[in-house]
Amino acid sequence: MSHPHPELSIPGPLPEGGLRVMALGGLGEIGRNMTVFEYDDRLLIVDCGVLFPEEHHPGVDLILPDFDAIRDRLDEVEALVLTHGHEDHIGATPYLLRERGDIPLVGSELTLALLGAKLREHRLRETVHHVVSEGDVLQFGPFELEFVAVNHSIPDALAVAIRTGAGMVLHTGDFKMDQLPLDGRITDLRAFARLGEEGVDLFLTDSTNAEVPGFTTPEADITPVIDRVFNKSEGRLIVACFASHVHRVQQILDAAEAHGRKVAYVGRSMVRNMAIARDLGYLTVPPGLIVDAKELADLAPERQVLISTGSQGEPLSALSRIAQRNHNFVHIEKGDTVVLASSLIPGNENAVFRVINGLTRWGANVVHKGNALVHVSGHASAGELLYCYNIVKPRNVMPVHGEIRHMVANAELARKTGVENVVLAEDGVVVDLVDGVAKVVGKVPCGYVFVDGTTIGDITESSLKDRRILGEEGFISIIVVIDSNTGKIVSGPEIQARGFAEDEATFDTIRQPIIDALEAAVAEGVDDAYQLQQTIRRTVGRWVNRAHRRRPMIIPVVIEA
Ligand SMILES: [Zn+2]
Ligand SMILES: [Zn+2]
Repeated sequence: MSHPHPELSIPGPLPEGGLRVMALGGLGEIGRNMTVFEYDDRLLIVDCGVLFPEEHHPGVDLILPDFDAIRDRLDEVEALVLTHGHEDHIGATPYLLRERGDIPLVGSELTLALLGAKLREHRLRETVHHVVSEGDVLQFGPFELEFVAVNHSIPDALAVAIRTGAGMVLHTGDFKMDQLPLDGRITDLRAFARLGEEGVDLFLTDSTNAEVPGFTTPEADITPVIDRVFNKSEGRLIVACFASHVHRVQQILDAAEAHGRKVAYVGRSMVRNMAIARDLGYLTVPPGLIVDAKELADLAPERQVLISTGSQGEPLSALSRIAQRNHNFVHIEKGDTVVLASSLIPGNENAVFRVINGLTRWGANVVHKGNALVHVSGHASAGELLYCYNIVKPRNVMPVHGEIRHMVANAELARKTGVENVVLAEDGVVVDLVDGVAKVVGKVPCGYVFVDGTTIGDITESSLKDRRILGEEGFISIIVVIDSNTGKIVSGPEIQARGFAEDEATFDTIRQPIIDALEAAVAEGVDDAYQLQQTIRRTVGRWVNRAHRRRPMIIPVVIEA
């Protein structure tokens, strides 16, 4: 989907001493975050993530940011900064590295470890890595980067301050302001204040929860709820959460230990990520607590906990297969408890409710966000954003990370605190910071890039439209063989249909009108196969629309013999 800004055109050259900001994804959607900064003919990229397809993207595996705008300039990229290890921030990195393999990667220890595992899966060799932590200052070309600790739903997330000759940008990445996080690592508001004193010229802020009033509930409030669930459960416990939510997994491990249960991980990404988090010290695992899933199955149900992926109803995930009773060794039983300790990402509702219904049908007790406090968001609510604006006192604000409604709500918050210049930009819209003022100066083409099986970018919106029509309306094909000399029909019309009507007789009424229309066209001198096909398409199209109120895909084929 391209974003509608017909009034904007390709921007002119960046004025000397100016900083250009261009998002190639993430503005106008939750996902595929990627922002490009340009100063003095050099580029810096912050994040390179994926967007997960929804039901109206049939067959699509992933959606990438559109690299087109910088494809010819990849050799000017000084570094790719990764703010944290979520897929919507790191997931498209392998695809960018396929185009230039030696872009230096900059991120925290956990972020780069999670990315490293992903690169190995893509069979990409390790590139230049710069492991950074809060407080570090690094220079890449004309960009001086300073990293600031932020609190989010994955450990080791960073905000980044970018200093250039045009001024200072502060990019929050994804963050919230949990004051009692499990690891004690809070969003560093003192650093925000110090940078504010120095002068933040452009503040890019996470918009995800800008519409939510007040403050995001602390993670610690979930702990007693999980404890109650463990207390009440007499059978097996299955907890589904994001495979990157180390602290949620920590809460489950602690509860399991306290209640004398053993734990097994189910799902490839859960097993992989938790091994990384444990090895690096982000996850504390009591000795002997973790067993493999087959070992766990030998224990009494009341001694078992499974921590699984699939909290978004992903059809191939462990939890979906468990709900359909078609998992290799986990068979859901009456008396089991399933906890969905995760948010419900918009677009996934149907899939998640299908899983909940499936589990309930087999007698499981399903605990989810809708009936218990088993999840809190990883993003700052309106109250937290107001604090940030008041502490940082930025000259210009540009909301990022959100659908348009989230970004508009965030812009309104900034204005309320007295920020005079708030720039609303969607994907592809180009913003220049010149003489301390940020403004929209144009746009570059920025579409969806679909990964479909092994192809990248071959599937377009129009292919997806075809898939949707095929999925919803079926198709009708009409084959006619015509004598190329006389124009007479030699054979056909042969009509085949799928997903439209199974009864052959349905088409009896349309055969003669097709013949009549073709003969009329030939009599008028039409002799090329394409035009004759169009004649068939119109005739059949009018008929299905009138007689059946349907719009299937119509595939006419005229063969000249
Ligand atoms: Zn995130
Ligand atoms: Zn994100």
